[in-house]
Amino acid sequence: MAKGKISVHTDNLLPIIKKWLYSDSDIFLRELVSNAQDAVMKHKKLVSLGETQNNVEYEINVKINKEKGIISVSDNGIGMTEEEVEKYINQVAFSGAEEFIQKYEKEKDEKSQIIGHFGLGFYSAFMAASTVEIDTLSYKEGAKAVHWISDGGAEFEISPSDKSERGTVITLHISEDNKKFLETNEIRNILTKYCSFLPVKIYLTDGTEEDKEITPINDAEPLWLKKPSECTEDEYKAFYHRVFLDFNEPLFWIHLNVDYPFNLKGILYFPKLNHEFQTIEGQIKLYNNQVFIADNIKEVTPEYLMLLKGVIDCPDLPLNVSRSFLQNDGYVNKVSSHITKKVADKLTGLYKADKDQYAKYWDDINPFVKYGCMRDEKFYDRVKDVILFKNYEEGYISLKELTESDVKEVYYITDIDAQSQYIELLKSEDIKMVLLNNMIDNHFISLLEYKLSGIKFKRVDSYVSESIKGTETAEEDQEKLTDVFKKLLPETKIEVQALKSENVSAMYVLSEEARRMEEMSKMYGNIGMMNFPKSEETLLINSANPLVKLIFEITDENDIELLCSQIISMAKLSNNSLTGEDKKHFIEKTSEILERIFKN
Ligand code: ADP
Ligand code: MG
Repeated sequence: MAKGKISVHTDNLLPIIKKWLYSDSDIFLRELVSNAQDAVMKHKKLVSLGETQNNVEYEINVKINKEKGIISVSDNGIGMTEEEVEKYINQVAFSGAEEFIQKYEKEKDEKSQIIGHFGLGFYSAFMAASTVEIDTLSYKEGAKAVHWISDGGAEFEISPSDKSERGTVITLHISEDNKKFLETNEIRNILTKYCSFLPVKIYLTDGTEEDKEITPINDAEPLWLKKPSECTEDEYKAFYHRVFLDFNEPLFWIHLNVDYPFNLKGILYFPKLNHEFQTIEGQIKLYNNQVFIADNIKEVTPEYLMLLKGVIDCPDLPLNVSRSFLQNDGYVNKVSSHITKKVADKLTGLYKADKDQYAKYWDDINPFVKYGCMRDEKFYDRVKDVILFKNYEEGYISLKELTESDVKEVYYITDIDAQSQYIELLKSEDIKMVLLNNMIDNHFISLLEYKLSGIKFKRVDSYVSESIKGTETAEEDQEKLTDVFKKLLPETKIEVQALKSENVSAMYVLSEEARRMEEMSKMYGNIGMMNFPKSEETLLINSANPLVKLIFEITDENDIELLCSQIISMAKLSNNSLTGEDKKHFIEKTSEILERIFKN
């Protein structure tokens, strides 16, 4: 048996770190500013421990010199001695941040503000630069300033530097193929993306500003870190507009603020939908100690919450080296279920506090709530009592009220225009109807039927309920009517029934189940349901209707046919399916009838 130590050749490793460790080349700026930020936080910590003093305002400066082709990132933080440069910079994957935390932040529950972790961030500088220089002066008394330079190979040079103030300057000589990083707007965008909420002020200059007052890139005290009781409604709204560039007002929001058993801060906004059929696209920004990590990270935010807009800051996230990837970890699950609970609590709280106000929100928030219910059983259990249905006539009815009533069939409308005939019919029988016109409703009612056994949802044009059926039709009448209509519509299923209402002569009805299946298969582009049968329509003939009764009195075959074909056309007309040839035919026959009436 042989044992040994695996050796790693830095010559081979460096290109890997430079090229493949990080997916986006703009990451270098985030890493360098994070290091600058850490250097300041460390200095602050030492001041608070009485180890040193400070008499300047902490700041980070990002400077672009387009002519010289350089960007520099400087800070007035802790600085490095020559020994420290040797240790932290020259040894790849050796993190001074980790060491600092172990040494100075001993108390267990102390919240660390230090970002660094892996000891690799610095080298991302070579993603944009061909040569990198460091000039640094440590806070330590008697320390000498150090200059370090490397072209990204495995070699470097250290020499004395003329830097006279505490802190570090990292100078990047931008490589040929990264010239875009010399554009002020490009750099401003990157800084805004990642560093908008860092606690140390960050200034961007490119030498063109002259006497102009320069404002920091960042908001050093983001709203989510404040106590909810100290934030005003205007502040919440202003923050929303600024971060999401959405100039509509948000409906309401949830301020997450947890210290124990884990650390989680953030604000989730419920956006207002612009119009009914807008696809909702949310944006949940994830931060780690105020540094932006990425949008819509699915591990932390439950999928349905992606319809919301918000910021979440989790300082203890188990991030891996390239930060936007999370390690599988129980912590992440806890965060996610905490958020679910908070959102559900907010909704039930709003409902309890003011039902009318809640109902006003419902049109905007219902796709989100429904989607959440379908995705997460726990969420459904928490919010089921505050699920609302919009009544056709007026007001709303809650799922709770619905289940407590003795209604077993819930009639719903998806299109008031196209279904007007059916609506009238049910209305005349005093049957309550609700509006369900969202894409998601099809799936949602299937979920409800599954959860609440006993309740069935039926679209108003689906098979007619017992409650609108009148007396039985004699068998021979049924046969006769079926026969005459069958002649004109050999392919269609014909059914004869006497309805309570005489008004309607005939109507098309379809099976609820078949229609739902067909709609779903359409939605999924027929995957796996290639040969799914088209839902079968039935033409229901109302034998209580005077026109239909006439069929028994007319003797002329042609007249019976004319009457039947008009009845069919009217049924089509009222469910918006009278088109093409049918329409032409209907108009011709109607003219013929009018002529017959008035010519005599
Ligand atoms: P990490 O930040 O994860 O520790 P980095 O590769 O980004 O790893 O940096 C390595 C180390 O170099 C840091 O931990 C820190 O000790 C030192 N360092 C980097 N930048 C600075 C800076 N601006 N000021 C002081 N020390 C720095
Ligand atoms: Mg770092």
